[in-house]
Amino acid sequence: MTPVAAAVEAVRQRVVAACERSDRDPTTVRIVAATKTVDASRVRSAIEAGIAEIGENHVQEALLKHDELDNVVTWHLFGHLQSNKARVAAGIFDVVHSVDSERIARALATQRNPEGAPLALLLEVDYSGRSERTALADVEVIPLVRRLAGLPGIHVSGLMTIAPQGGADAARDSFRRLRELRDAVEFRTGWALPELSMGMSDDFEVAVEEGATMIRLGRALFGER
Ligand SMILES: *Cc1c(COP(=O)(O)O)cnc(C)c1O
Repeated sequence: MTPVAAAVEAVRQRVVAACERSDRDPTTVRIVAATKTVDASRVRSAIEAGIAEIGENHVQEALLKHDELDNVVTWHLFGHLQSNKARVAAGIFDVVHSVDSERIARALATQRNPEGAPLALLLEVDYSGRSERTALADVEVIPLVRRLAGLPGIHVSGLMTIAPQGGADAARDSFRRLRELRDAVEFRTGWALPELSMGMSDDFEVAVEEGATMIRLGRALFGER
C-alpha cells in the first residue's frame, strides 16, 4: 500500500468513527483532497487510492494539474478568486468554496458554459479573524443568497468556513455557528443550502460531528507541506 493509500484509509476510518458518535451516515461526508503544492503524480496516487475530489487554492496550479490528471475527479477551488480569473475558473471547477462577494459570483455565472451543469458555489464566512482571508461576515449571507438565488450558471449550495486558531473548542464553536447560520438562512430565504464545507486536517472529526458534508484535507493525506 502506498503512503497516501494508507492515509486515505486511516482518514476514512476516523470519519466513520466521528459519524458513529454523531449518528450520521458516512456517505454524507465528502473527502476533498487539498492538493496545493502536491505534484500531479502524488495526486494521481491519491486518486488511485479512491480520492474522487480534488481542491486547489490557485487557479494557475489547478490548470496545470487539470491537464495532467484524468478528468474523472470533481474539481474544487478553495482559494480567493479574482474576477480576471473567473473565466478560467468557471471552465475547470465544479465547486467554488471561497465566494466572498456578489461581484465574483456574478462573474462566475456569466462565464459558466450555459450548456453544462451550473457551477456550485459556497459562500465563505469568516469566523477565523485571519486577515489574510477575505470572507463574508455572517450578516452579509442572507442578502447575498437572496441576490444570487436562481441566477443561471451558478447554484448557491452551501457555506464554508475555516476554523480559528485555538484548538478543538474554538473549532467546534465556529462549525456550530456555521451550521446554525445555515439553518437560519434557509429559514429566512427558503433557499436550500445542503452543503457545509468545514474541517481540515487538525479538526475534521469535530467538523463531522457538527454536520460537515465536505471536509478539506491536505496534511492528513499527504503529510506536512
Ligand atoms: C490548505 C487548505 C486546506 C487543507 O489544510 P490541511 O490543514 O493541510 O488539511 C483546507 N482548506 C483550505 C482553504 C486550505 O487552504
